[in-house]
Amino acid sequence: MMHKTDMRQDIESILLSAEELKAGIEKLGKTLTEDYRGKEPVVVGILRGVVPFYATLTQNMDVPMVQDFMSISSYHGTQTTGEIRFKKDLDVSIQGRHVLILEDIVDSGLTLKKVVEELKIRNPASIKVCTLLDKPSGRKVEFQPDYCCFTIPDGFVVGFGLDYNDHYRNLPYVGILKKEVYSD
Ligand code: 5GP
Repeated sequence: MMHKTDMRQDIESILLSAEELKAGIEKLGKTLTEDYRGKEPVVVGILRGVVPFYATLTQNMDVPMVQDFMSISSYHGTQTTGEIRFKKDLDVSIQGRHVLILEDIVDSGLTLKKVVEELKIRNPASIKVCTLLDKPSGRKVEFQPDYCCFTIPDGFVVGFGLDYNDHYRNLPYVGILKKEVYSD
C-alpha cells in the first residue's frame, strides 16, 4: 500500500540521485547542441513522464528549437498492455523538419516504435529518439534509441517524472519502488 503522507517511505533505494541526473543530462545536452546546430529541431516530448527531463535537457541545448508535446496511453499499473492510443497530437507540422523525440523511459519499445512509425508518415527531414532511461531487458520489439542518458537494470522505477498510478512524479531522483507498494 502507498504511504499516505511521505512518498519517500515507498522507495526501496535510490537508483539515480538528483546530482547524477543533472550531470548526465547536462552532458547529453552538450552532445545534442553539437548535433542540432543549424537545424532548428522540433523537440517532441511524450507526456507526462518526460516533463522534468524535457525541461532540464532543452535548457542545456543551446540551439533555437520549436517545442511540442504528444500524449499517448500505453501503461496501466506496472504492466504493459501492448495497446497504444494517441490522446493528444502535435500542434505543429513536422514536414521537412528535424524531429527529436524525448521520452522518459524505453522498456518494451512498443510506444516509441509506434510513435516513430506514425511521425515518419509526415515526412520529417530526420527523426531521432532520445530517452532519459533505457531498460533493454524489457524489450518486446527491436528498438534502439539514438540517444540515451542512463541504461538501467530490470525493475520498476519512479521519480523524476516517472509515476506509479499517477504518484511519485515529483521526486527529484529515480528510485526503485518497494514491492509491497504495488503487490497488494
Ligand atoms: P514501452 O512502450 O517502451 O514498454 O514503455 C514506455 C512507457 O512505459 C514509458 O513512457 C513509461 O510510461 C512506462 N514504463 C516503462 N517502464 C517503466 C518503469 O520502470 N517505471 C515507470 N514508472 N514507468 C515505466
